[in-house]
Amino acid sequence: MIFDDWRSWTYSKNNALLIAGPCSAESPSQLALVNTHLSQMGIGIMRAGVWKPRTRPNSFEGKGTEALKWLQELKQQTPIKIATEVATPQHVEATLKYGIDVLWLGARTTVNPFQVQEIANALQGVDLPILIKNPINPELALWQGAIERIYNSGNKKVAAIHRGFSTYQKSKYRNTPSWQIAIELKSNFPTLPLICDPSHIAGKRQMIFEVSQKALDLGYDGLMIEAHPDPEKALSDADQQVSLDDLSKIISQLRFADKHSKDAVFISHLEQLREKIDHIDQELVEILSLRKQLIEKIGEYKKENNVTIFQLERWNEILHSRTVWGNGRNLDTEFIQKIYKTIHDESIRIQTEMMSKETEKKKE
Ligand code: PEP
Ligand code: MN
Repeated sequence: MIFDDWRSWTYSKNNALLIAGPCSAESPSQLALVNTHLSQMGIGIMRAGVWKPRTRPNSFEGKGTEALKWLQELKQQTPIKIATEVATPQHVEATLKYGIDVLWLGARTTVNPFQVQEIANALQGVDLPILIKNPINPELALWQGAIERIYNSGNKKVAAIHRGFSTYQKSKYRNTPSWQIAIELKSNFPTLPLICDPSHIAGKRQMIFEVSQKALDLGYDGLMIEAHPDPEKALSDADQQVSLDDLSKIISQLRFADKHSKDAVFISHLEQLREKIDHIDQELVEILSLRKQLIEKIGEYKKENNVTIFQLERWNEILHSRTVWGNGRNLDTEFIQKIYKTIHDESIRIQTEMMSKETEKKKE
């Protein structure tokens, strides 16, 4: 799939796709304050939720059509582009009526293919950027499916927003990022612009800088940051919105690294280092293959002696000794243990396959 390069459809002056603004549109004066600040900063797209998907009833559910009117008026006075969330075909229709420039699908929408398809149908022939947040649950296929549905409706101005995944495990994040899922999405769709939403990942304003920097270091194309003139009084997501001054500070302190360098010395040095890595990886694969031959020998031996494949004591001993060796070599405990769990799982798989083949043979 070839997606349009966001540089052809956005208006930001920065070398990243920057979107900022309140979680929810609350009043004309709030929007005007944000708008003035964003234009001073050179940020061309303002986010503002109009319909808010809330977990519990009786919370603030957005200002609806009234807010669309405020946004339309704002657009008549300044060149700002407005982004808002749509969750139904009726929302799409209303946003088109009021001239909204960028639409996004929220995490609670992406999760539901029926709903995404209805929105995709409503978007047929609509030439606006459509941003698709990841689903609430950490399922790459569901995220990709939503992107494909929108893309198939004829819209090539599609981008993904990574806003983290909900989990039962205690975490320092409101929604754990699971960066590898977004990275996998990017490797499946290399031309798809990928935006990070540090606000919904972090859940608290103190962490917005850290999460944003990590995303930029990973080569994300942009950021969507929630910002409010008076965050503590915000009607939704008060803990995670940053003040307008803090937004300026965050953007000015972030390191926007180039994805590629044209510097010849840098390129040749990088190539040399990568060559070394290639040699080391060849050796690693060679060693894993030698290990596999031993695993097969042990498998035979266990079979002949009618001994179970999994030996708890031996496994505990492997995990412990390898961790100690790794730590002695400056390798992280979690990293070493993850690798050994994977290696051990594979050994068990190989030996189980050998055993079942033998049983089948006996049956014949
Ligand atoms: C939002 O952007 O304010 C929002 C509700 O986000 P999400 O769909 O990521 O929860
Ligand atoms: Mn929000």
